[in-house]
Amino acid sequence: MQNLEPGMPQPLNFYSFTLEGLEKFLKQYGKEKFRAQQIFKWVYEQRVTDFDQMLNLSKDLRAELKNLITFNLPPIVKHLVSVDGTQKFLFDVRDGNSIEAVVIPSDDRLTLCVSSEIGCNMACQFCFTGKQKLKRRLDTYEIVGQFMQVQDILNKSGLKLSNIVFMGMGEPLDNCEAVFGAIDVIHSPWGVNLSRKKITVSTSGLIPEMWRVADAKVRLAVSLNGYNDEVRSLVMPINKKYPLADLLEECKSYYRATGDKITMEYVLLKGVTDQLDHAKQLVKLLRDVPCKINLIPFNEHPGSGFERPSDETVQAFHTECMRLGAQVLLRRTMGRDIYAACGQLTTKVNRPETMDISNSKIGGNNARSFSSGQPGL
Ligand code: SAH
Ligand code: SF4
Repeated sequence: MQNLEPGMPQPLNFYSFTLEGLEKFLKQYGKEKFRAQQIFKWVYEQRVTDFDQMLNLSKDLRAELKNLITFNLPPIVKHLVSVDGTQKFLFDVRDGNSIEAVVIPSDDRLTLCVSSEIGCNMACQFCFTGKQKLKRRLDTYEIVGQFMQVQDILNKSGLKLSNIVFMGMGEPLDNCEAVFGAIDVIHSPWGVNLSRKKITVSTSGLIPEMWRVADAKVRLAVSLNGYNDEVRSLVMPINKKYPLADLLEECKSYYRATGDKITMEYVLLKGVTDQLDHAKQLVKLLRDVPCKINLIPFNEHPGSGFERPSDETVQAFHTECMRLGAQVLLRRTMGRDIYAACGQLTTKVNRPETMDISNSKIGGNNARSFSSGQPGL
């Protein structure tokens, strides 16, 4: 959230404001409270982001606000469209850094996967973002901005985002203030107005902050990725601090508070987490946790030291989990040809899109690339 004290460096970014925040801000400048509601309507309903066009505000107020509040968002510097319809957007967030957001189409949904940090300090061994140490936590406006900028582009094709998942770069619960500020803007009727049930926060398991997901009444996904403490600590060092027993207890608390099942994400790493015996231990581990398991075959990136299991192994693991009575879904890999799949996102503006993906059967020749923020879809 931004510092609202008068005398602080101006202008402030509009997309970091909640309705209440803007009301307070206007009050400090001696303006009427209801003006905030009017401005929110212009921005989120009409998509007007120029005070001069907000005609129900007085001329003087418009002139004053122009000096105090900006609508500038990180520019989209690259837009890639995969052969499977997945789209990746690269935003320039200053200092040579970028973040990525991905639009994933499915039968009845258009899901936006957003980033919450530039890099990540959790150091999960299989994750490309984890190899890029945390450079900066994103601000609320940079998270809301991913949604608004992508939606503005989709508007041209008459498309509407239906869901948002915090599964891009970074650990959302390591940046709670900005993430839950953005969630407030995204679900509120005065903001984007997306139902809370269409918002999912994915965490590597920062137990002390997990209550906030229940408190915000949004969906919880947990990156499990191990069937016991030994394996999970190996691939996710955070497990040494917050071991499985405590993590699963916290998941049960979430369920008690919300009545919503947790999504357990489980990355299949060849020889490490993909054996039938691992499936047995996984299902046993989760037997009294109300959840559905989401299997994600590992997506390769250079120097990870892990391999993607064969399709047969993945299928066998899936079948075994079902046979044992688990509610389990095999996540279809989307956007691999444009490096938009889980765990492939980067902080570098100038990554060569020819990253070597060993083992990959996809060509990428049909992927389309747009280099400015004005792509034709
Ligand atoms: N930091 C959060 C959200 C971002 S990661 C978290 O860890 O939950 C989103 C998901 O991508 C996680 O479930 C993670 O396990 C998965 N993931 C990371 N790297 C991957 C890779 N190389 N292949 C497949 N899935 C990966
Ligand atoms: Fe961070 Fe999530 Fe990647 Fe782990 S999996 S390094 S928590 S982004």
